[in-house]
Amino acid sequence: MIAYFSMEIGIASEIPTYSGGLGVLAGDTIRSSADLRIPLVAVTLVSRKGYLRQEITERGEQLEYHDEWHPSNFMTLLPNEVTVQIEGRDVKVKSWLYKHQSLLGGEVPILFLDTDIDGNSPDDREITDYLYGGDERYRLKQEVVLGIGGARMLKALEFNVRNYHMNEGHSSLLTLELLLHNDLDADRVRNLCIFTTHTPIEAAHDKFHYNVVKECLGDEFSQGILEEYGGRDVLNMTLLALNLSKYVNGVTTAHMEYSRKLYPGYHIRSVTNGVHSYTWTCPCLRELFDEYIPGWANEPELLVRVDEIPNDELWSAHLSAKNDFIDYVNETTGVELDVSTLTIGFARRATAYKRATLVFSDLERLREINKRGDLQLVFAGKAHPRNHSGKTMIREVFEYKKLLKDEIKIAYLPDYDMSIGAKLTCGVDVWLNTPLPPLEASGTSGMKAAHNGVINFSVLDGWWIEGCVEDVTGWAIGPSPDEKVDEKERRRRELEDLYNKLEYLIIPTFYKKRDDWIGMMENSIGKVAYYFNSHRMMRRYATEAYLF
Ligand SMILES: *Cc1c(COP(=O)(O)O)cnc(C)c1O
Repeated sequence: MIAYFSMEIGIASEIPTYSGGLGVLAGDTIRSSADLRIPLVAVTLVSRKGYLRQEITERGEQLEYHDEWHPSNFMTLLPNEVTVQIEGRDVKVKSWLYKHQSLLGGEVPILFLDTDIDGNSPDDREITDYLYGGDERYRLKQEVVLGIGGARMLKALEFNVRNYHMNEGHSSLLTLELLLHNDLDADRVRNLCIFTTHTPIEAAHDKFHYNVVKECLGDEFSQGILEEYGGRDVLNMTLLALNLSKYVNGVTTAHMEYSRKLYPGYHIRSVTNGVHSYTWTCPCLRELFDEYIPGWANEPELLVRVDEIPNDELWSAHLSAKNDFIDYVNETTGVELDVSTLTIGFARRATAYKRATLVFSDLERLREINKRGDLQLVFAGKAHPRNHSGKTMIREVFEYKKLLKDEIKIAYLPDYDMSIGAKLTCGVDVWLNTPLPPLEASGTSGMKAAHNGVINFSVLDGWWIEGCVEDVTGWAIGPSPDEKVDEKERRRRELEDLYNKLEYLIIPTFYKKRDDWIGMMENSIGKVAYYFNSHRMMRRYATEAYLF
């Protein structure tokens, strides 16, 4: 079996143990593995208080609440307990078993680790409460439970693990546990481990100060070993995983190249991310695909035959999804969006590099463009409680919404989660993405959009560098990453493309050349979705990493 470790997993909207793309990717990994019958068991934390539930005031201020949920409503508690050492105490860990069932009969078990057990101290009982909550020490304790506790739990449950796949560095401590059980033989441990890195920003890689590490881990693992594999000055979880994995990959080709520069000397490969086709295709389009492209859901390559679908049927399926979505937005927000208006969607974690407000850089220009053909915009996204610039960005969107209210309708959907993500990526016409390159390692929401014939309009970063064929599969914003232009010029070119393409390509095609528009919708399905799906991704992990 493959043991797949992830700090967050988005398996269902009602199980709020994810914050964004990393968790949704883990969910899609599990969904595709179940369909394809790849033998996999997933391990994560139970995060009893979730990530956060978001409300937004009229002025755009984010209000945060715990997103408490009850594991017993969804899963069964297993009798086995294991212990980990934290600050010299024995901390007991139990696990909840959730069985993800594929419609095709396959099944992937997910273990949700939990320290809320009688006999653990009150503090220790809270270790598995908050996803990405607390301070450095709290995070390290969580990673002890995930990495070391997770490995011990798999053993206690007698899973026959062939490889350990670390989805990001949060679970890297499992390599230490494996060292202990393999006579400190690093080669043997490497042979067991696979590591997928997810961020191109060195500062965002998980690191812990050794004074905290020493207090937290005690002396179960020697300082010499920690420093040898995890770094001299701080315990760098990425480095730990890099040093003890036989197979390491980034999540797009560009991210691989970037990671090679960050960590020279390591052989870093790439498996480009994908999304689970069936999950992220809306019911209206599923029905059409079933009729004209039978077998598409388990063999998304077949979407290449999208031309079989008559244009008018594709368009009316889209309109029907859009109609439902616009009704939902109007009911939720009170904004009166109109179904015949060109609708642009933007939903992401509210964090500075995603640049949610870039489209408002020149309001006069945006107003002029809107006179050529009406626009309306729908936003969504949560800011991490400590991310102040993310919260400011949400407030700014609300200010622009007010400033433009007589001309361009703008809605902000609160509490972005997987179900809202699914509604958005099928209910708009254009999916806008404006990250600051090279900070978007992959991005996956645009792949969801493509599955629904929603056309991508995005900065050339992450997956879109591979997915974009200009004017065929969508449109690029700004120069390609290979073009030698300085940062200032790059920013200028991004705005120029954003506004010019909206005015001269997107609006005229949408309103005046409907057949060309539908042609591009078909290309989104037949040339983007057919490749950027998690079935292709998991077949590649299976042949290139798991059988490697
Ligand atoms: C798909 C998804 C994401 C990832 O989208 P990006 O474009 O990678 O930011 C984040 N959050 C939710 C709820 C999603 O469904």
